[in-house]
Amino acid sequence: MVASSVYDVFVIGGGINGCGIARDAAGRGYAVALAEMNDFASGTSSGATKLIHGGLRYLEHYEFRLVREALMEREVLWAMAPHVIWPLRFVLPYQKGGIRPAWLIRLGLFLYDHLGGRKLLPPTRTLDLRRDPAGRPLKPVFGKAFEYSDGWVDDARMVVLNARDAADRGATVLTRSKVVSARREGGLWSISVKDGASGTVNVHQARMLVNASGPWVDQVLTGAFGRNGVHNVRLVQGSHIVVRRKFDDARAYFFQNPDNRIIFAIPYERDFTLIGTTDRDYVGDPKDAKISEEEIRYLCDAASEYFAEPVRPEDIVWSYSAVRPLYDDGASKAQEATRDYVLKLDEGEGAPLLNVFGGKLTTYRRLAEHALERIAEAIGAKGAPWTATSRLPGGEFPVDSYPAQVKSLRASYPFVEEAYAERLVRCYGTRAADLLGSATTITALGRNFGGTLHEAEVRWLMKNEWAQTAEDVLWRRTKQGLFLSAEEAAGLEEYMAGVRRAA
Ligand code: FAD
Repeated sequence: MVASSVYDVFVIGGGINGCGIARDAAGRGYAVALAEMNDFASGTSSGATKLIHGGLRYLEHYEFRLVREALMEREVLWAMAPHVIWPLRFVLPYQKGGIRPAWLIRLGLFLYDHLGGRKLLPPTRTLDLRRDPAGRPLKPVFGKAFEYSDGWVDDARMVVLNARDAADRGATVLTRSKVVSARREGGLWSISVKDGASGTVNVHQARMLVNASGPWVDQVLTGAFGRNGVHNVRLVQGSHIVVRRKFDDARAYFFQNPDNRIIFAIPYERDFTLIGTTDRDYVGDPKDAKISEEEIRYLCDAASEYFAEPVRPEDIVWSYSAVRPLYDDGASKAQEATRDYVLKLDEGEGAPLLNVFGGKLTTYRRLAEHALERIAEAIGAKGAPWTATSRLPGGEFPVDSYPAQVKSLRASYPFVEEAYAERLVRCYGTRAADLLGSATTITALGRNFGGTLHEAEVRWLMKNEWAQTAEDVLWRRTKQGLFLSAEEAAGLEEYMAGVRRAA
C-alpha cells in the first residue's frame, strides 16, 4: 500500500454526477481527485434516452421543481456544449379517445413552454399529420399531433468532457480504479483505491468524500464504508433498442402507450432509429443489466402501434440497458418514483461525506452546484459558481454555428468527407482539428478499423480521453460500434492492447 496526497474533495464515481461535481470543484480551486472503477460513463450515464429535457411526463407526477430546473438547464447546457448537445423537435401524435385528452396535453405543453426560461428553442405548435411529413411513417389513423422542443445529448461524451475539463483544471482523475474502503482517521478520510490493471492498492487522504456512485451508491456504503441496513435507492432498469432508420424526418416521436407510459423514437447516428425506454424494478449488480425478451416485445409492440411499418425483434441491430438510481420515496410503481435528486451530508466525526442519490443528465450541472454548496458548508467555501457560462472542451463556438464548424473543418482538411466531418465535429467540436493534426490525406490518419474510425482518432482518444479498450472507443467515445463487424472490433482491441503495452 502506498499513501499519496491529501485532497480537499475525493469523488467516487465517474458518471455524469461525479464528473460534474469534480469539474465544478476543481474550477473553484479545491484540490480534487476522482476515482472511477471502470471507464467513464460505463454505468448509467451511457445508457440513457439521451434527452436534455424538462420531462413532460413528470408534470403528471407534480414534479414541478425538477421540471422547471431541467427546462431552464436546456439552453444553458446547449450553449456549454453545442457539439454534443443540440435541439430536437418532438412530434406527439394525438388520437381522439386516446390515453390523455387533448386539453391535458395542451396544458402540459403550455406549462412546458412557459415554466423554464425558454429563449432560443421554438414553442409548441399543432401539426396536421395528413399534410406534414411527420405523418408519413405513421399509421393514417393519426391525423393530428403536437410538436414541441427539447434537446439531445451524447451522454457518454458529455461525461468524458466533464472529466477532461476537471483534469485540465487540476483534478486527479483515475479510471479503472475502484474505491474498496473508506475510513475516517484523525479528521480525514483514508481511501483505499484498487488499480484494475495491476491490483495495487493506493491510499489517498481527503478532507471530504463525495459518493456519486449512481446505482452502486448503497453497495459502496455497505462495501467500502462498512455500513449496515442501507437502502436509499430504488433500482429501475430501462432498455433501448436501435433499428435501421424508420423515418427520414429530423424530428423525434413521443408515443403514448396504453399502460400510460411513453416511449420515444429518435433519429440516431444518421442511419438508425433509437426506441426506448422501459421501466422495471431491478435486482442485482447494475453492471449486469441486459434487455429481456419481454422488454424487446414491449418496445416493438409499442412502436408498431404508431409506425405503419411494424418494428420487429429481427430489425434490432443493437440494444442497451441501464439502471436508474432513483431516490427511494416509497412510490409503488417504478415509473412513479421521483426523478429528482437528493443530496445527504453525513458529518460524523469530523470528515464529512456527501451522498448523491438520483438525478438526471439534464440536471447534473445544477446538482453539482448544489453539491458545492454542501461542500462549502462542510469544509469551507472556495470560489463562486462558474459553470453556467462555461464551455466544455470543444464547445467553444456559438450554438447556431455547427454547420460553419463542419465547413471550416472541411476547408482545412478537404480529404475529409462530409459525413465524416459532421461526425468529428459532433464528437470533438473545435478539437477535431487537433485530432486530425497535420494530416493532408486520409492515409495519413493511419489504419482504418472500419466505419470512419482511423488510427489517429484511436490514439487521440487514448491520449486525451482515457480510452483503453475497444469498447471505450466503439460504444462510449464514439458510436462507431454500430458500423464495425465483430472481426473489425477484435482488430481494434488487439491494436489498443499493443499501444497500451508499448506505453
Ligand atoms: P453512473 O453514471 O452510474 O455513475 C456512477 C459511477 O460510479 C459508475 O461509472 C460506476 O462504475 C462508478 N462506481 C461505482 N462504484 C464505484 C467504486 N467503488 N469505486 C469507483 N467507482 C465506482 N436523464 C436525462 O436527463 N435524460 C434522459 O433522457 C435520461 N434517460 C434515461 C434513461 C434510462 C433508461 C436511464 C437508466 C436513465 C436515464 N436518465 C436520463 C438518467 C441519467 O442517465 C442518470 O440519472 C445519470 O446518468 C446518473 O449518473 P450517475 O453519475 O449518478 O451514475
